[in-house]
Amino acid sequence: MPGTSSGFAPFEYIEEETNELVGFDVDLAVDAIERAGYEAGDWVDIEFDSLIPSLTEGDIDLIAAAMTITDDRDEQIDFTDPYYEADQAVLVREDDIDPAEFADLEGRPVGAQSGTTGEVTVEEELVSPGLIDGDAARSYGNYVFAVNDLESGNVDAVVVDTPVAETFAGDRPVRVAFVFETGERYGLGLRDGDDRVGDINDALTEIQEDGTYDDLVSEYFE
Ligand code: GLN
Repeated sequence: MPGTSSGFAPFEYIEEETNELVGFDVDLAVDAIERAGYEAGDWVDIEFDSLIPSLTEGDIDLIAAAMTITDDRDEQIDFTDPYYEADQAVLVREDDIDPAEFADLEGRPVGAQSGTTGEVTVEEELVSPGLIDGDAARSYGNYVFAVNDLESGNVDAVVVDTPVAETFAGDRPVRVAFVFETGERYGLGLRDGDDRVGDINDALTEIQEDGTYDDLVSEYFE
């Protein structure tokens, strides 16, 4: 049973008309699972923060949630080969401040989704250097709530993965002020020691080689 955390378009989101979970990760993961010879089953849609605990406890069997492969996560779970690369973007209100670097956000409240690399970036680039207080680093259960708070003025910036920032900028009165290069890479997550990871890696390679991957990119990113 695969798990994800929707509200992260174009990777995983609920399509308004059909109320269905869709997205690049959803299609990619189902294809990879089936090509590897397993059944995908029903999706579990939960908060990003709960994905790794749910996987290790056995409530889900695979994570497909634009999850960056980090050392800390890699100690708890296994990842497939990377399937996508991203950076962090700083979103601001369309007609508001125009920061070019983190120093320009001094003293301002900034949001990110709990447990993400965006949150780590806020911590490392703003809180640790003393540019903002710990309580100005606002944590949200979902990026949709963070961007709502940006629109309403409760935070002045949101730090989020580049492709998702661009999607928010296309749909709402917010824009990308600058990109902070992290070069992070997404992997599908499996339980530590799950031997299906090899089959799924083979399937991912096949998906890339036969052009399916490029079709998904055009479907969801262009
Ligand atoms: N790629 C980021 C991370 O892994 C954000 C993922 C997400 O919010 N779904 O932390």
